[in-house]
Parts: sequence; structure tokens; C-alpha cells
Amino acid sequence: MTFDPADLAAMDRALALAAAAGEAGDVPVGAVVTDAAGRAIGEGRNLREVAHDPTAHAEVVALRAAAAAVGSWNLEGCTLVVTLEPCIMCAGAVLQSRVSRLVFGAWDEKAGAAGSMYDVVRDRRLPYRAEVVAGVREAEASALLRAFFDVRR
Ligand SMILES: [Zn+2]
Repeated sequence: MTFDPADLAAMDRALALAAAAGEAGDVPVGAVVTDAAGRAIGEGRNLREVAHDPTAHAEVVALRAAAAAVGSWNLEGCTLVVTLEPCIMCAGAVLQSRVSRLVFGAWDEKAGAAGSMYDVVRDRRLPYRAEVVAGVREAEASALLRAFFDVRR
């Protein structure tokens, strides 16, 4: 499968953010929001431990930064690029922000809400949905997570 060059560039940045999260003691997950032209308008990394904030997942941090940058909660036309399949909370945030596309790297078979455990972002019962592209730089994203948890076991 060939991926969009803008998605790949954003994923490279998200992977760097994920590595920084891991170095700070948080589960290594990073996220970038790009606008319709593919420009990065917000980014974030998992800050749950650092910020003592149960909702400070990379996706939420990045969506807040992007919304602040454009001066609107409505991010329709934008893409959220994240190294790991979003959890239920972050899948909900994807819908609340109205981002049009979700791009992620590794699958989260235990808690993923974008196609593995649940598929919140494409649930036809909900009024909003997002297009999903999975598996972008999957090996790199998985390797970061594996290395992080190996050290802690
Ligand atoms: Zn999450």
C-alpha cells in the first residue's frame, strides 16, 4: 500500500514526539494534526504521567493545539495522524473535533477504537464519521511501544 506523502511526513514527526514521550516516562504515543493542505497545525505527545492528567493522550493534546492555532474547535478537513490506534476517549475526540481523516500507525488490539476492539470513528449510528488509514509506519510505531514496555517488565 502506498501512503500519502503528507501523512508519512506527519507520521515521522509523530514518531519523534512518541519517542520524546517515552523518554519522559509516558507510553510513547505522538500525534500531529495537518490541515487540508497537509501542513502541520498542531502536535502533541502523551503527557499522562508528566501532567498527572488522565485525558492528556497525544491525540487530545494535538487536537487542542490545532484548535487553538486555527481559533476554532471545528477541524473539518483536517487529518489527525497518530502513532497508535486511538482509544475510546480519543476516538470520541476525533468525532467531536470533526477531523475528516484519522491516520494511525500501530494497531491496539487491547483498547483500540478505530477498527480493532471497537470502530467508534466509523460507527454508522453516530452523526459524524472519519475516514481511517491504518498501518502508516506501523513497524516503527510498534517497535517504540515494545521497547518501552520491555524495559518496564
Ligand atoms: Zn486515547
